[in-house]
Amino acid sequence: MSSGPAEVDGHSLEPGPDETILSAAQRLGIEIPTLCYLPGHPPDGGCRVCLVEVAGAPRPQAACHTLLRAGMRVATRGPALARLRATARELAEAQRGHGAPRTSHPYLRFAPELCITCRRCLHVCSDVQGADVYAIAGRGAEARLVFGADERFESSPCTSCGTCVAACPTGALSDVDGAEQGGEIRRVRSTCGYCGVGCQVEVVADERRVLQISGVPDASVNRGHLCAKGRYAHAWRESPERLTRPLARRGGELVPISWPEALELVARRLGEIHARHGPDAVGALTSSRSTNEAAYLLQKLFRTRFGTNNVDCCARVCHSSTALGFKQVVGVGAASACYDDIERARLIAVVGANPSEAHPVLGARILQAVRRGARLLVIDPRRIELADAAHVFVPLRAGSNVAVLNALCGLLLETGGIDAEYLARRTDGLEALRAAHLPAPLELAARASGVSAEVMRAAAAEIAAAGPTLFVSGLGTSELTQGTASARALANLALLSGSVGRPGAGLLPLRGQNNVQGNADMGGSPDLFPGYQSLSDPEVRARLSALWGSLPPETPGLTIPEMFEAARAGRLRALWIQGEDVAQSDPDQTRVFEALERLEFLVVQEIFPSETVRFAQLVLPAAGWLEQEGTFTNAERRIQRVRAAAPPPGEARADWQVIRDAANALRAGWDYPTPGSVMDEIARAAPHSFGGVSYARLEPDGLHWPCPSYSHSGSARLHETTFPAGRARLEPVAFVASPESEVPGFPYRLITGRVLHQYNVGTMTRRTDAARLAPADRLEIHPADAAREGIVDGAEVELESRWGRCRARAALSDRVSPGSLFLSFHFPETHANRVTGPARDPESDCPEYKLTAVRLRA
Ligand code: SF4
Ligand code: SF4
Repeated sequence: MSSGPAEVDGHSLEPGPDETILSAAQRLGIEIPTLCYLPGHPPDGGCRVCLVEVAGAPRPQAACHTLLRAGMRVATRGPALARLRATARELAEAQRGHGAPRTSHPYLRFAPELCITCRRCLHVCSDVQGADVYAIAGRGAEARLVFGADERFESSPCTSCGTCVAACPTGALSDVDGAEQGGEIRRVRSTCGYCGVGCQVEVVADERRVLQISGVPDASVNRGHLCAKGRYAHAWRESPERLTRPLARRGGELVPISWPEALELVARRLGEIHARHGPDAVGALTSSRSTNEAAYLLQKLFRTRFGTNNVDCCARVCHSSTALGFKQVVGVGAASACYDDIERARLIAVVGANPSEAHPVLGARILQAVRRGARLLVIDPRRIELADAAHVFVPLRAGSNVAVLNALCGLLLETGGIDAEYLARRTDGLEALRAAHLPAPLELAARASGVSAEVMRAAAAEIAAAGPTLFVSGLGTSELTQGTASARALANLALLSGSVGRPGAGLLPLRGQNNVQGNADMGGSPDLFPGYQSLSDPEVRARLSALWGSLPPETPGLTIPEMFEAARAGRLRALWIQGEDVAQSDPDQTRVFEALERLEFLVVQEIFPSETVRFAQLVLPAAGWLEQEGTFTNAERRIQRVRAAAPPPGEARADWQVIRDAANALRAGWDYPTPGSVMDEIARAAPHSFGGVSYARLEPDGLHWPCPSYSHSGSARLHETTFPAGRARLEPVAFVASPESEVPGFPYRLITGRVLHQYNVGTMTRRTDAARLAPADRLEIHPADAAREGIVDGAEVELESRWGRCRARAALSDRVSPGSLFLSFHFPETHANRVTGPARDPESDCPEYKLTAVRLRA
């Protein structure tokens, strides 16, 4: 290609590689009008509003898609161009569609008479969300926008992400939200409070209400994109069911009391039980829905004031296995990679995760990366949406991860698909792995997983061809009796392929709740201080003793399942639960209820009267994520600010404030004027992880831990040059079948999980219009199984395991394979966790939500 300058309106400039005339003009500060063009997206060129004249060209060219070449002379102004542009605009305006407005969707509206078929919606829907909802029917003056099977959003592949609304220049597509605006409007930047992706949101609010939420365009995490939950599901704030006053149980009923009474009660009852029965008679569960600051303060209160390590959090029941397994192999239990590695990856391996529904913005980023040329390997028992885009799909049986991952390790070793130089330089234990996994245990894996050797060979060949691979994993690897073993086997595979610490590669375990990563980071764990520091390290103890004044013993406390066991046995008598609905979310529900009933004193900090609240002696009304200040930490270890956009209802208060005030009622003498002052202490408590973190430094896009000093810019990627122990440790992992994998008389394998429009136990989403899009839990069953059982689509079915029964409506689907079932757990009336059992990973204590043997009754 020839080089040299070009000219735009007489200004000389050097064309950039693949630079369009429009972009070059913008670089010179020359404005060219546009209509269908969308910055950051491939040009459409259809509207002709950006026409320019190019010397020597027979006719005017569209600036948005004509490349500027050396020697070109371009004119962007002049009466002829102005006339052409005006005509193009008039034509577009005249294009306006017709037909009935679409008003049935809970979030989206379409007014055909405002649509000029500019195609911007069509492009963003495809380029950002990958949903491909829209098309243009007809030509010329007859052209019109069409979508979905019958032109309703509800029956189209629309995910309700709202991206097309933001792109529509005429208001033809609009949000139901924000239609009527309130008084004085404020715009507040915060972090989405649903999943662990950590999208940045701009919240438009008046003095009382949240009116509208949109994505922050230049935020690294989501680049303006949001999913339906983050953008639209905020009406829970206005629900009349919100808890607005402290409630105490008197004569069997929960009755309103004042905050001073509530604080006196919590201090007195915890103090009495502690004095009478000792430190281990009390415990606390910190919340993954709340802020880092609240989690830090609650674990500190129990460790310092009561001298117990009985502190745990819901990471126990989701990602504790990944945290432990990755720590054992590479030295850190969190992600080694960051989200930006998605766009850099040659191969993305999604293992036991369904990001399109549980982490939709990342699911969309993965899909876009694949559309741009990345390879995709999906290992999952369900044919999830990403499986449709995968180059290889490994539909293994639930519970057989270790068998399949070991087989892939064996195949890499057998075929020479390993990174020998990386392994020699950075790891120990290769010979032991060879001894264990050679020849590749294909037969065993095929028997356990139902996957053919051919498919496993194809998966291994993808990894061997790509080399460093980005392994995106989810709860399908961790919530199993072999959860920790699965994480170790996955880390082995990542090391064999030279993936950990490389750009576009590594380990990226997705986190379910908005702050589950931060909650675990803050010491919500019975065997670790904040920053994953050892309870027995003398240096750590000396530092924390100086900072905290007193310390708990070196012996670990109880995990959540152990706390419930201790409560049933009468050893644990008081429990403080911060924002977690264990009565609905924890497995083996019947025994959880027994434990909660047996407690002498249960304190629950909540925003709604959850199932757990029914057992409480004291209920403390809490502020939700749109109503409090602090920080959340997302799945890529990025700590981001959370800000109050609107006040909490009634007398509800921010969690961190309540814990501080309760500590002071216990005469702890805590002086935290702001949540920022709590973060300053966190930095001192765990300096190797958070020493350089302060609220000022979190602007605008947050910081990835570890960030040990104020001169450190955070660590987006870990292990680039070394592992914490110097070298990573490959160790063979033995496959052990789950006790739930084959149970006589219970022929189906039940997997529980989430769907797109609901979130976890549905506390918030059930109280929004998401309930119109996903109104009940559904039991996915393969049509062949349904036919054999005499079950028709929509029929109510009873599921029974060895642990309990529940009922749900059947949805016939070939996303599950024959013999497998999938059930969401968002609605309390389903009682999904009556069916899940007591099986748990012996290493991490994580329950087995992803595999329960069940039978069906039509
Ligand atoms: S809301 Fe999202 S998925 Fe639905 S049509 Fe618009 S861009 Fe596509
Ligand atoms: S992907 Fe997760 S963090 Fe992002 S908007 Fe959706 S729920 Fe919120």
